[in-house]
Amino acid sequence: MSASPEGHISITGVSKSFGRHKALDNVSLEIPPGSVTVILGPSGSGKSTLLRTINHLERVDEGFIQIDGDYIGYRRQGNTLYELKEKEILKQRINVGYVFQNFNLFPHLTVLENLIEAPIAHKKLSRKAAVERAYGLLDVVGLRDKADAWSRHLSGGQQQRIAIARALALRPRVMLFDEPTSALDPELVGEVLDVIKKLARSGTTLVVVTHEIGFAREVADQVVFMVDGKIVEQGSSDDVLNRPSHARTRQFLSKVL
Ligand code: ADP
Ligand code: MG
Repeated sequence: MSASPEGHISITGVSKSFGRHKALDNVSLEIPPGSVTVILGPSGSGKSTLLRTINHLERVDEGFIQIDGDYIGYRRQGNTLYELKEKEILKQRINVGYVFQNFNLFPHLTVLENLIEAPIAHKKLSRKAAVERAYGLLDVVGLRDKADAWSRHLSGGQQQRIAIARALALRPRVMLFDEPTSALDPELVGEVLDVIKKLARSGTTLVVVTHEIGFAREVADQVVFMVDGKIVEQGSSDDVLNRPSHARTRQFLSKVL
């Protein structure tokens, strides 16, 4: 977690269709380095697709995304963007951590093994350095005592905290969270949100898709509301949550609050 101003995400005129359905429709968004952006919107509004384009897990049809000036998934030559080779795409992804709804830990590995695998493979860390880094991250997520546990034996909340630690192990500039607490029993939601809150203002840029309005109110620098693949409203959490200007935002908030 560096304090240098890295992790500026710039989304410019991005559109993406699946067949005839436009999942993203001319989306533009600036996400400042080190900031926390919460994305809200009804199911099917394009929130996951937007996160996936930031990681080039989804190819855009139009527009482009940059992180710290680098084109995600592409390299620019003159006025043309050429798609990167798979190897270069994987290299770029190291800068972007991704946490899904269904914490996808390796169930046959211990917690510690889950945390050291990627740094050794992708960052060429020695095992000793990776283990040291892993214990530091276990402290961040409050699970040092679980280092040798099998990940499948942890509670859902603990597994998600380990999934966050695993994403952090590659020291990404940007962390994307796609409904990180949606699959959890209600009593486990708080412990995961507390970890994400701790990461806010640590220097890493956070983009969080969630329906947890209280979390958005407390930590978001910017709240974005999407409907039908478009951003219909964006601003400070105070403006968007307390004084929404769009009828669809008011309607949505009245349902989730
Ligand atoms: P959200 O995360 O806001 O619920 P998504 O980004 O998952 O929305 O989906 C936006 C729209 O795109 C939905 O209508 C969804 O059915 C469609 N969609 C998403 N991914 C695919 C895909 N791989 N193939 C076809 N349609 C998709
Ligand atoms: Mg989604």
